[in-house]
Amino acid sequence: MKPNVKDLGKEQFTTYLKERGQPSYRAAQVWQWLYQKRAVSFDEMSNLSGALRRQLAADFSISRPRIARQSESRDGTVKFLFELSDGETIESVLIPEVHRLTLCISTQAGCGFGCAFCATALMGLKRNLRASEIVDQVLEASRTLDSDPSLSRERLCRNSVHGSTGSPRTDGDTPKFKDLAVRSFGKLRTGSEALEGRTANCDTISEGQERGITHTARKRRITHVVFMGMGEPLANYAQTVKALEVLTDATWGIGISPRRITLSSVGLVPQIQKLMEETRVNLAISLHASNDEVRGELMPVNRKYSLRQLIDCCRSLPIPRRKRITFEYVLLKGVNDSEEDARELCRLLSGVRCKVNVIPFNPHPGSSFERPGESDINRFGQILLEQGFQVNVRRPRGDDIQAACGQLQGEESQHRSRRTLFAAEARQ
Ligand code: SAH
Repeated sequence: MKPNVKDLGKEQFTTYLKERGQPSYRAAQVWQWLYQKRAVSFDEMSNLSGALRRQLAADFSISRPRIARQSESRDGTVKFLFELSDGETIESVLIPEVHRLTLCISTQAGCGFGCAFCATALMGLKRNLRASEIVDQVLEASRTLDSDPSLSRERLCRNSVHGSTGSPRTDGDTPKFKDLAVRSFGKLRTGSEALEGRTANCDTISEGQERGITHTARKRRITHVVFMGMGEPLANYAQTVKALEVLTDATWGIGISPRRITLSSVGLVPQIQKLMEETRVNLAISLHASNDEVRGELMPVNRKYSLRQLIDCCRSLPIPRRKRITFEYVLLKGVNDSEEDARELCRLLSGVRCKVNVIPFNPHPGSSFERPGESDINRFGQILLEQGFQVNVRRPRGDDIQAACGQLQGEESQHRSRRTLFAAEARQ
């Protein structure tokens, strides 16, 4: 089988071209075709000579993952299940929001970290993705936006603006508002009034915002990327950083600013330090508990890197003043959602420049965890808010299409045949 041209580093490819008497700028031209014009064949590369195109086609292939399944939620979220060249499957989720179009991508097929509440964990680790397979998710989702009539602009706009209910707001709330039930604006609004206000408005939006999403969706361009799909990006460090280079380079790569990219980790301390030294992407940490006992049960990785080590690491990171670390906290009924948990979380994070994303658990087959009730979710967020934290309480996106981590994969296993029963089912 011919090597995939996207698996060659730029230097390696430049050397290949030089050996064939080609100037080095040809490498940039080919890269631009691959990453900016999303070419799927060398034939399309019209600024290369016919001879070079034929030579490239003889020597290389251009990878393209197959979309094994695509589902669209009522709220505009689109979930892709991609089949890789060796038959492994991974998922990506496209999330339209007010002023952005975010793609959530995977870095591993499966995951080996065994978080107790996570559907992907039930699969175990299949393998690391190559950088090209990480980048291909962005290219393929972008192609779909270009070409799929079912993802019509109007539909993306309508769904992402209003969710399944609600009508336009007219009071001109800030355009920053997105799919959040609660949001603090520093310490300006605290207490139940602010919280209830935010919650009450979570399905609605101003006309100004509507214009915003229409504008973003009209461009139909992925504006943000989050490494929050299947797998642990920092356990596949080299390929993840290589993919980041292609995603962020504006000259020859896809050209998404690192400010618009967020990488989420279970908390691998040495790799977090390395990543923050080597890249400028935003960092999110999956915290999910405020003490070692609970975190150790939910996330086995905590036995390797304790909360103290993790938070000390976060305090010492070279994060620019205007940036914050995001802590993700999946709320699990009766496990980590009490008032005392919230207070302990405030103490743990005190003095860390951060924001907290409170994510009500997204139930899936094979898990006995439950999502807390609305009032418990709000109370949890409110305690953090009152302590001056910036808090987002996430509304579930795409829950009608099982958009949480690992869930489409699970669906697909059931869908294909009962032959390889999804681990979630098998363990029930
Ligand atoms: N391995 C990385 C990135 C993948 S998971 C990490 O753990 O950070 C992305 C986020 O989704 C994590 O915070 C994860 O804990 C959360 N998550 C996984 N399953 C979930 C579920 N069923 N409901 C809500 N959040 C979930």
